[in-house]
Amino acid sequence: MKQNEDSLLREKLKEYFGFSSFKGNQEAVIRNVLSGKDTFVLMPTGGGKSLCYQLPALLMDGVAIVISPLIALMKNQVDAMRTYSNDAGIAHFLNSSLNKSAVAQVRNDVLEGRTKLLYFAPESLTKEDNVAFLRKVKVSFYAIDEAHCISEWGHDFRPEYRRIRPIINEIGTAPLIALTATATPKVQMDIQKNLGMSDASVFKSSFNRPNLYYEIRPKHDVDREIIRYIKQHEGKSGIIYCLSRKKVEELTELLVANGIRALAYHAGMDAQTRAANQDDFLMERADVIVATIAFGMGIDKPDVRYVIHYDIPKSLEGYYQETGRAGRDGGEGHCLTFYSYKDIQKLEKFMQGKPVAEQEIGKLLLLETVSYAESSMCRRKTLLHYFGEEYPEENCGCCDNCLHPKPKIDAQASLRMALEALRDLGDKFKADYLASVLVGKNTALIKSYGHNKSEWFGAGADHDIRYWGAVIRQALIMGLIDKNIENYGLLSINTKGEEFIAAPRP
Ligand code: ADP
Ligand code: MG
Repeated sequence: MKQNEDSLLREKLKEYFGFSSFKGNQEAVIRNVLSGKDTFVLMPTGGGKSLCYQLPALLMDGVAIVISPLIALMKNQVDAMRTYSNDAGIAHFLNSSLNKSAVAQVRNDVLEGRTKLLYFAPESLTKEDNVAFLRKVKVSFYAIDEAHCISEWGHDFRPEYRRIRPIINEIGTAPLIALTATATPKVQMDIQKNLGMSDASVFKSSFNRPNLYYEIRPKHDVDREIIRYIKQHEGKSGIIYCLSRKKVEELTELLVANGIRALAYHAGMDAQTRAANQDDFLMERADVIVATIAFGMGIDKPDVRYVIHYDIPKSLEGYYQETGRAGRDGGEGHCLTFYSYKDIQKLEKFMQGKPVAEQEIGKLLLLETVSYAESSMCRRKTLLHYFGEEYPEENCGCCDNCLHPKPKIDAQASLRMALEALRDLGDKFKADYLASVLVGKNTALIKSYGHNKSEWFGAGADHDIRYWGAVIRQALIMGLIDKNIENYGLLSINTKGEEFIAAPRP
């Protein structure tokens, strides 16, 4: 019987998709879905998540409801499904882009049982008439793609995603499969809890991308370094991510002026130019695409040889996703990030005025990013650890910290000095103020507080102000001091910091 089942699945895989074998966990996942259990899939981008619900949908009774965040992604999938089948009714999407008669056609196909996959964005799923319609339909299972959108701790939070469970209850329950390419343990828990699938079978693939080289460089002469880098990698494809649309345009211009075939991509451009630029990049009429993070979701260019972050991303999830677009064919993939603490302060500024809960989350995500950027530990180990995976090797052999270890110094005494100074000065000051006091900089502000007479004034004058900035950041990373973002980044010492003063360690 088992033998038959095995060959049956493989036969169907070949028949419907033209593949002769399953990738990674696909087969185990598909069996779990077919057996009617809830399923949670963590698989890196390009791992083949779609097949995990597409194949069972074709084999099971009823129609599978697929929830996906982007209309473009849905359309691609529906088109692909139709090329596998003679019946164009096999897959449909329902969203606001369809006119009345198109909607009627879709509903008709579904009611006649021709449709096996019906795609929705969460906004349209929650529409009353769609709910009423779906109540009349036999649902085989619900698939929630890009499920990290459910969690506020994910890199792409979508409040509408949190309404999926109540809507499913209204339509009629059926097994669930949730899929994502990035989830920290916290995000995974959030997803399962929110979808009411805490008992789901979990299939987690490794997130390690052995062919990616991770490197962080200090952001000094970044434009020149990028131009030099691209020229050294002439003819190869690369993506450069910038934080702002303005920077995207400036940098593109600069690259073009330097004879580089570069194009821009951001959400502020008109749709036509944007699509044309994307096409030119995919078809290799351009080598480099300079983009905001609006670029990349659902884009499958296998031979991107480098991803450069002009600005540091605001979370490690984002970093992992964006760097993950390099080397998808398993070949060389260089992930180069330019880091300056100033950029972190810029990102903090964007958070001001947002709801406090959102700020708290944003602050912690940023702190993880800072500690990754400033760490001298193996990048791969740090990154995988963040996603709840232990990387066993001491030296990965494929990141800057493993290949070029940074010299370490013991800053125990400095750290203690900074903490004591902060405690004595009180919690009304920012990091650069504290550092200025320690080096003994005679600013008007310091004088106005009378701190030029404090015992800490100039106590750290044997180092420069950048050194003290780094020490204070280490204290933040180690959780010894807190930073209040709403109040312009004022620092205060916490109990862990007090403990360190009492019992310092190297
Ligand atoms: P994900 O959603 O995990 O990023 P996709 O579902 O988009 O990944 O699949 C990525 C690529 O892998 C697609 O081009 C798909 O056709 C291909 N693929 C999926 N499953 C298989 C398989 N069993 N054998 C060969 N290629 C596959
Ligand atoms: Mg996908």
